[in-house]
Amino acid sequence: MTAYDMDNIFAKILRGEMPANKVYEDDEVLAFLDIMPRGDGHTLVIPKTPARNLMDIEPDALATLIKGVQHVARGVKQAMGAEGITIQQFNEAAGGQVVFHIHFHIIPRWEGVRMRPPASEMAEPDVLAAHAEKISAVLNAG
Ligand code: 5GP
Repeated sequence: MTAYDMDNIFAKILRGEMPANKVYEDDEVLAFLDIMPRGDGHTLVIPKTPARNLMDIEPDALATLIKGVQHVARGVKQAMGAEGITIQQFNEAAGGQVVFHIHFHIIPRWEGVRMRPPASEMAEPDVLAAHAEKISAVLNAG
């Protein structure tokens, strides 16, 4: 199995060495917006423990992570007024994985609106900030 790379971008975000539009955080997971959103409000959820992908994460850590994904997906759907949510998760380069710290994509969807292609366009920083504020307000209410 390939070793975990401590210098991947998401490890740097976790260590506070790279900025991110964070929307939710607890002891186990961190959620932040994707910089190249495939849909408005596209959010990534990652575990705080190092794991490369679905193949090497401990089952208990995966169970905790998917609970976090459900919690964040509910909040994202409400905050963005989405009609549906697409969840994606890629493993290894051949499987479409680009960043080698396991993550789930939460992509808000609306009838008749196509997902943008992966890695197609960087979102404007002020647009990301506005979406992050909306989602964070729902996920961190009360
Ligand atoms: P995957 O590894 O599942 O193919 O996707 C990695 C995702 O991370 C892509 O959707 C890409 O847009 C996103 N991404 C790549 N670099 C950064 C970054 O520095 N910050 C954030 N927030 N997202 C990133």
